[in-house]
Amino acid sequence: MSMEAYVNEAVSKFRKLLEEQIERSEKMRTAPEKKDFSKTQKIVVGTIDGDGIGPILMAQANRVLKVLLRDELASGRVEIREISGLTIENRIALGKSVPDDTMNAIKECDVLLKGPTTTPKGGSMESANVTLRRELDLYANVRPVTIPEENCDWTFFRENTEGEYVLGSRGIEIPDILTMDFKVTTEPGTKRIARTAYEFARNNGKKRVSIVTKANIMKKTDGSFSAICHEIAKEYPEIETDEWYIDIMTANLVNPRIRNQFEVFLLPNLYGDIITDEAAQLQGGVGTAGSANTGDRYAMFEAIHGSAPRMVEEGIQDYANPSSLFRAIELMLRHIAMPEKADALSNALTVCSETERRVIVTGNKDGATAGEFTDYVIETLIKANA
Ligand code: NAD
Repeated sequence: MSMEAYVNEAVSKFRKLLEEQIERSEKMRTAPEKKDFSKTQKIVVGTIDGDGIGPILMAQANRVLKVLLRDELASGRVEIREISGLTIENRIALGKSVPDDTMNAIKECDVLLKGPTTTPKGGSMESANVTLRRELDLYANVRPVTIPEENCDWTFFRENTEGEYVLGSRGIEIPDILTMDFKVTTEPGTKRIARTAYEFARNNGKKRVSIVTKANIMKKTDGSFSAICHEIAKEYPEIETDEWYIDIMTANLVNPRIRNQFEVFLLPNLYGDIITDEAAQLQGGVGTAGSANTGDRYAMFEAIHGSAPRMVEEGIQDYANPSSLFRAIELMLRHIAMPEKADALSNALTVCSETERRVIVTGNKDGATAGEFTDYVIETLIKANA
């Protein structure tokens, strides 16, 4: 193919991407009404095992759910529905990041509890998470992280549907010369994540929201993200807003002298992805933090870690820490308007992981298995309820 032909092909591809993104942006302006779960008669919780350590941890998550939701499951107010087909083997066989049958079953649920899914490196298959976030329009990725001994109580609001991710599998390549990816920031996409963060701050007594970008370099996309967030901030005059570049914020989080001054973080997709893993590591490891992906109609809750293929290769998968997934259950219970149950689980996890620590998971054979730790959590839950 001649260079001219490559350029023409790239230009027409770019035109199509632009038109699609304008259409996506316009659709966002007519958001569906948010569901009020306190008034919903029946809530369907879809569970997805995922890959690698996923099925092992999800089996334990199911045990915890059955204890916490015993009455609601018995009365039929909550249904737990197992969704199959989201395994790496099935996705590769069908050549789809989320097979159609699985997506249809998912769309019949209200909320999802999901185990980690493997994404093949290279190739064109999109990550299942990216597909789910886009198809279910899960625009807010919310990740709480605490370091109690230092009084750090952070909540990250990561934009979840655009930035580098929305066209991440659709870049341009001119062999042996260049490759080019695209980053997209839309006005309605930024407004809705900014509002979600500020509403959270207002409703939870937080005094400060920190916007994090690299607007000095990514002048268009991060520049407009920053400007739109500051615009929304004006609707919340009681909350202090500050702004940081991602590089210095990454350093701030490992600076014990100032890190406890931050409360709510508002970030575009990629920076949020990276910095929340850093934050989780500071809390005690990626096995300890939960993540909520919420939209107006659907919500998906998961651990922040991946499928840990190396643990499976080394035969230590049974020793994976289920705490991150349990924190995801806590977030899910809050989302479906069951705060007392969420608090009960949170308290039990604090006892088991911080104050009492009678059974310890290390992620290796010198620690407890996920099942043994879950026995301990359930025993603690039941004791607290007795
Ligand atoms: P990973 O999170 O799977 O593993 C990173 C490190 O953390 C490894 O050393 C692993 O052993 C350890 N670890 C992870 N979970 C743990 C747990 N519960 N207990 C103890 N130790 C744990 O990250 P990775 O290796 O970069 O990714 C593996 C696969 O998972 C990739 O295919 C990636 O795309 C996918 N992934 C999926 C999700 C998701 O579905 N939400 C998130 C991240 C990565």
